[in-house]
Amino acid sequence: MTTTKELLRSVYGYDSFREGQEAIIDSVLLGKRTLGIMPTGGGKSLTYQLPAMLLPGTTMVVSPLISLMKNQVDELVAAGVPATMINSGVTVDEIKKRLTDIKNGVYKLFFIAPERLEDPYFYRFIQALPLSLVVIDEVHVLSQWGHDFRPSYLASVDLIENLSNKPNVMALTATATQKVQADLINILAIENTVKTGFARDNLAIKIEKGLSQQEKFDFVIAYAKNNPDDIGIIYAGTRKLVDETSELLVKSGISARAYHAGMLDHEREAAQDAFLYDECQVMVATNAFGMGINKTNVRYIIHLSMPGSIEAYYQEIGRAGRDGLPSETVLLASARDAQLQRFFIDNADNQTPAYRQRELAKLQEMTGFTATQNCLQQYIVQYFGEQIPPCGICSNCTDTRELLDMTLAAQKVLSNIVRMGQLQAGNYSKTQVVAVLRGKLAEKMRWTGFDTLSTYGLLSDWPVKKLNQFIDYLAADGFLLVSGEYNGLRISDKGICVLKSEQSVMMREIKTTQPIKKTRSQNCEIGGDLFELLRKQRSMFAKELSLPPFMIFSDQV
Ligand code: ADP
Ligand code: MG
Ligand code: ZN
Repeated sequence: MTTTKELLRSVYGYDSFREGQEAIIDSVLLGKRTLGIMPTGGGKSLTYQLPAMLLPGTTMVVSPLISLMKNQVDELVAAGVPATMINSGVTVDEIKKRLTDIKNGVYKLFFIAPERLEDPYFYRFIQALPLSLVVIDEVHVLSQWGHDFRPSYLASVDLIENLSNKPNVMALTATATQKVQADLINILAIENTVKTGFARDNLAIKIEKGLSQQEKFDFVIAYAKNNPDDIGIIYAGTRKLVDETSELLVKSGISARAYHAGMLDHEREAAQDAFLYDECQVMVATNAFGMGINKTNVRYIIHLSMPGSIEAYYQEIGRAGRDGLPSETVLLASARDAQLQRFFIDNADNQTPAYRQRELAKLQEMTGFTATQNCLQQYIVQYFGEQIPPCGICSNCTDTRELLDMTLAAQKVLSNIVRMGQLQAGNYSKTQVVAVLRGKLAEKMRWTGFDTLSTYGLLSDWPVKKLNQFIDYLAADGFLLVSGEYNGLRISDKGICVLKSEQSVMMREIKTTQPIKKTRSQNCEIGGDLFELLRKQRSMFAKELSLPPFMIFSDQV
């Protein structure tokens, strides 16, 4: 009998398994319902492809995106593994032919989108197959706690559960917090979970703060020019910025392509192919690009603004260095980023209070990432419930600026927050806390009596911006807790230790934001016309993909 190791060598040409792969494969071959959690680029595809080759019947892979399927099928066929896909991009005649071939056992694997299961004809068809295994890839979208929750995917779970030929089920993802994991185990009746570390040791994660839009453009142009032999992806928050950035790059003599959901199908495909086949150096894209794309030699990812959650960010930076070689990610963060993400949440269609609360909590975690002075890699894996030592290569680990003792200032801020809550029960927003600390309580807030507190005006000599950033830092590093609709602040246990002088607050000087230079793109305020435009584009895009509009809220401008 062929062993998995032999197949690994003969089909893929690899000598050894990566962490987690063998455990997942063995579990599936033993017939256990398995959940595999491995980092992006960790090698999840192989963990269902090998069992598919060894199991007696056929394997069906349920995959959320067409681009993802195409990529996987092309790779399998190239490796000599018979595989195909059934999706809306294929003609009816061709689908008939492929189904006949599947029935005749020509293929070991076939890929479908979840919606396909709702077609009664297709459903009867697969029930008549010797179906050994159903694979659910990118399974985090099944959990409402996950990134990119897709309720439509849930319907497919019931259909899979009810299959009369009772295939085994395996599910894969890179981004599962503890909550998502528990959810998935429950929804899919998982018997065995295999999880490897979330850390991506070969990624040097960096954050640059305080650049104006023009300076961000200059940054990416210089970066691409200084690394002419490297391939990179630049993520922009809006379609308009994608077009603008790629044009600027091209004008500077860099071969760049653009990719976003506002482009025609064939344009997008051409851009993606150019990137996959090394015909361009830089891909400028919205978050519509990249899921499941297996391009191993991406050397850098630059974010022109902050994404809405750690999950989204982790997925996106995960596309660098899939070959394991040193790669770099740079987040060009600015204070406005959170406002834009907040706008997307506030204006998402079909939102429930629970949805809103979850998204705001995720945004808060992401904002914390840009404010923390601890290891960035550590911050990310901690979010997924794992502890690691500092990575040593992120921009915080390598920051050589002097550490300052900020304990006294922290005590002022923290005791003020406690006092405000004692005087008028409640958690107060950063704006309100800053107003009291600076001794600038608004007339309409006088009823609170906050201006009578001993902490009133205690930091009146601090500029608003500095105080805001300091509070962000205290929240990011866990001295303060942030919750609720208005991001109310509360002191944590760690913060109490600071008040009791049992713990000090050491931090590096906060980089003060440079004065914002006026550039064309900064004149555009969100509101009025732009608001309308956003709404229109969102529903148009949603229609294209037949998704509920809120699923795709971050690629819409
Ligand atoms: P993901 O976990 O993100 O789905 P993939 O399955 O696409 O990752 O794999 C990422 C890359 O790692 C691919 O290029 C794949 O060929 C490679 N890879 C997977 N397993 C191994 C292995 N055992 N040895 C070397 N490279 C591997
Ligand atoms: Mg994958
Ligand atoms: Zn680090």
